[in-house]
Amino acid sequence: NVRVRFAPSPTGPLHIGGVRTALYNYLFAKKHKGTFILRIEDTDQTRYVKNAEQYIVDALEWCNIPFDEGPGKNEKFGPYRQSERKELYKEYADILINTGWAYYAFDTPEELDAHRKDDENVGKTFVYNWHNRAKGSLVNSLVLTTSEVTEKIKDGNNYVIRFKTPQDEILRMEDEIRGNITIDTNTLDDKILFKGDGMPTYHLANIVDDHLMEISHVIRGEEWLPSMPLHILLYKAFSWNAPKFAHLPLLLKPVGKGKLSKRDGDKLGFPVFPLAYVDETSGTISSGYKEDGYFSDAFINMLVFLGWNPGTEKELFTLAELVQEFELKRVSKSGAKFNPDKANWFNQQYMQTTDNKVLTDLYIPILEEKGVHAEKKFVLKVVESIKERAVFVKDFWPLSDFFFEAPTVFDPKASAKNWKPETALLMTEVINILLKIETFSTENTEKAVKEWIAEKEISFGKVMQPLRISLVGKLAGPHLFDIINLIGKEESIQRIRYAIE
Ligand code: GLU
Repeated sequence: NVRVRFAPSPTGPLHIGGVRTALYNYLFAKKHKGTFILRIEDTDQTRYVKNAEQYIVDALEWCNIPFDEGPGKNEKFGPYRQSERKELYKEYADILINTGWAYYAFDTPEELDAHRKDDENVGKTFVYNWHNRAKGSLVNSLVLTTSEVTEKIKDGNNYVIRFKTPQDEILRMEDEIRGNITIDTNTLDDKILFKGDGMPTYHLANIVDDHLMEISHVIRGEEWLPSMPLHILLYKAFSWNAPKFAHLPLLLKPVGKGKLSKRDGDKLGFPVFPLAYVDETSGTISSGYKEDGYFSDAFINMLVFLGWNPGTEKELFTLAELVQEFELKRVSKSGAKFNPDKANWFNQQYMQTTDNKVLTDLYIPILEEKGVHAEKKFVLKVVESIKERAVFVKDFWPLSDFFFEAPTVFDPKASAKNWKPETALLMTEVINILLKIETFSTENTEKAVKEWIAEKEISFGKVMQPLRISLVGKLAGPHLFDIINLIGKEESIQRIRYAIE
């Protein structure tokens, strides 16, 4: 029974690394007919951002990777916000105290700082662990008597509960992506599990919830790999079966070295967020894939390749195909370089496979905004003729404005080169040809004009270039006779007349 969770902390907008984690969890769950859970890890109240949870939910929805269980949805194992499960964690911290797997520590921040300084002075790094935890220089329940501890707690002294990492053990762990990992427990420190403010830390809350929510696989970013030994030890301490673990590779900057960061987007001019985001404290706006005009399917297709590949040349996948194909075994260990241009390529590919009717419905509001009220049937034909060259729906207007509005200015460079003294006469002849055509169609006009050019024994460009300039205003656009056919006889003639004058 596969049950996986995406467990973001609501500290700001989800960046694409987070979305990829959610995506891989989703794909893995669906592939195995399992359950995809959203859990909000909001125990760190100092970093809590009010709108972040809603942002996460909206982002998953836009990506079409909805969760099966989570806040407000199938709350079988709920609540799914850790802040609403607060009372629960103390119980578990107490279990560890009672079994000797954890201890109270009363050291004040000032005292810990002093220890750090002392150690620094002799060239060491202070670590709270087996080496010094019971030595007497630290104030904890391993060195105090039971009554001293009770007294301190009763007196309201601030305390934390620390994990008592076992000593001299070689811990063997297995990661679904990285294989076997071993670690010497003597290198670990005694992490804080529970804080005096009544809140658990990430580690305790995370594993208690994974256990209670019956999570079968923990699939998360590489940055959590260093926490894995502690988590495995915690499962041991509670005598619980640990889930399987899979740590996903880092996302790397497109250029240079290092991890892709939330700030990279605006610096390099591409979004790193699924949805646009307004930072309420600084007022800065970050762009998002959705608002920038990417199709969510294209975005997902780009994202899935950052760390996974199907082992074939195939690059275009629907979400359903990804569910079929996805395997943790094919996730790479090494970091994946993010390539924003690839997102554009995917978008262009999706544009071609998207139904023209759908694209037309997306284009009409843009046209209305420009004050253009065209018939749907006409817009559909325009879309058909230009979509090949568009990456985004927002490209439609610059690619097709001339279908809706006659050019009033003509590209001066193109005109200087192509508008010759004899051009006006030639264009008048074209008008006469068009006038004579009875059934106006792309084929008929093309045939008539081309026959006339052949008869006259003039070069093709001499007619076609100025004709294009007359109709479009510049040397751009789709097949010229498609344009003539779409805008119609009358409009074409009117435009040529205007250009001659
Ligand atoms: N709350 C952690 C995060 O923000 C979850 C890590 C995990 O999946 O265990 O990514």
